[in-house]
Amino acid sequence: MTGVSLRLYDTLARDSRDIAPLDGETLRFYCCGPTVYGPAHIGNFRTFVAQDVFRRVVELGGTPTLHVRNITDVDDKTIRDSQKAGQTLDAFTRGWTEKFHHDCGELGLLPPHIEPGAVAHLPHQIRMIEKLMERGHAYAAPDGSVYFKVSSYSDYGRLSHLEDRELRLGAASVATATDSDEYTKDSLADFVLWKSRKPEDGENYWASPWGDGRPGWHLECSAMILEYLGEDFDLHSGGVDLVFPHHENEIAQSCCSTGGHFARHWMHVAHLMVDGGKMSKSLGNLYTLEDLKARGFSAMETRYVLVGGHYRQPLNFTFHSLDAARQALQKIARYAKGLKERLGEVSVPTHEELINSADPAPFAAAWARLNDDLNVPGAIGDVFSVLNQQKPSTLSEEEAANVWRGLHFICDALGIVIPAVIGEGDIEVPAEIQALADRRWDAKMGRDWATSDALRKELEDAGWLVKDAKDSYQLLPK
Ligand code: AMP
Ligand code: ZN
Repeated sequence: MTGVSLRLYDTLARDSRDIAPLDGETLRFYCCGPTVYGPAHIGNFRTFVAQDVFRRVVELGGTPTLHVRNITDVDDKTIRDSQKAGQTLDAFTRGWTEKFHHDCGELGLLPPHIEPGAVAHLPHQIRMIEKLMERGHAYAAPDGSVYFKVSSYSDYGRLSHLEDRELRLGAASVATATDSDEYTKDSLADFVLWKSRKPEDGENYWASPWGDGRPGWHLECSAMILEYLGEDFDLHSGGVDLVFPHHENEIAQSCCSTGGHFARHWMHVAHLMVDGGKMSKSLGNLYTLEDLKARGFSAMETRYVLVGGHYRQPLNFTFHSLDAARQALQKIARYAKGLKERLGEVSVPTHEELINSADPAPFAAAWARLNDDLNVPGAIGDVFSVLNQQKPSTLSEEEAANVWRGLHFICDALGIVIPAVIGEGDIEVPAEIQALADRRWDAKMGRDWATSDALRKELEDAGWLVKDAKDSYQLLPK
């Protein structure tokens, strides 16, 4: 129906691959989910939104999906912060899981079909450790911790393409940073499968054949994948920081415990950055959806910014980009309003309706871009060239109906809901004025005051005032 099928860059193959379901029916994929010890930040959501676009493109292309995403509800951070908050781990992580679901809803993320939690899958994890021990891939240390023996798996490193020495150094630095108590292992590269109980864990421990303790972080994904997707499935995804060690360790645990293939393809999302650094909780430079809403930006405007960069390129977050998102969404909304006036009563098709009946024409070029490694910026460019060329008032009713359907098809692929209301006080800014204002802002950001002042003067002469806020600006007619 839609006539294009998805090609995606595969981290494992280091090349593009056609993405087609192994079983010929359903594309089965897994995404590493959030660690629920606070609100997810918009960096986390960049990854979840990119995975959502992936799913939408697959489904709109005519292939059903089975989407599994876990909730990490036990690890060092959840335990530490639940204790600080004076709550049980369960109550604490449940609260943050609800907040996560709420934010996902506002950002228009399709809920995964299965969303397993780590604590609820402890028996699965213990079974996997037992299998690994039986097969000679794991050993128990004197303190009751269990480690994966990296030297027992000759394919270790095939995803991250690191050399043996780098792997050992990498594992050593990760171990030093996150697990300084792991002095009982045989080799620095070995990673923990079961952590023996420590006083600082409080009441958060479980019984196992090796004594009380809790699972290592990498294990939960392997165990839950085996339960819900089996030994062989289509695709695995996460942020680029998970390639090593997390995904490398998942491969080792899964392949060694089952002898199966694990994920056929791997999709990794580059980071959302702030001022050239990764947005992360530990660096204290993060924004949540709540923060942006407090500054007057909608969740859809945030989503528009997050989808707007190519998922394999780092994306620098600025308030200016949120302003630009607002203007782009308003432009689409105005266009849709024009179509509606042309068409009279017309409904907005749902994702399910689009899966079964839609055709991207006249946005075939945008659709082809999405199928080419999810090239969202290219697709958005194509959408705007159609909107610029085909003014609603010049279209026949049939043409307008096609554009209506096609526009909703592409917006659905991006997970963008076209605003129903054109913003209050919304101002149509001519493209050349916008371009001047953008140049002035860039000059200002680059501290080139002379150029910035000259461009402000030019804008004023053209009848436009610029009002600057800390991180953005507004254009107003004089
Ligand atoms: P976490 O809650 O830390 O387990 O992370 C959830 C997801 O967000 C993982 O796929 C991470 O790789 C991803 N992630 C973390 N920080 C960023 C960032 N700044 N930009 C994009 N993705 C991120
Ligand atoms: Zn994982």
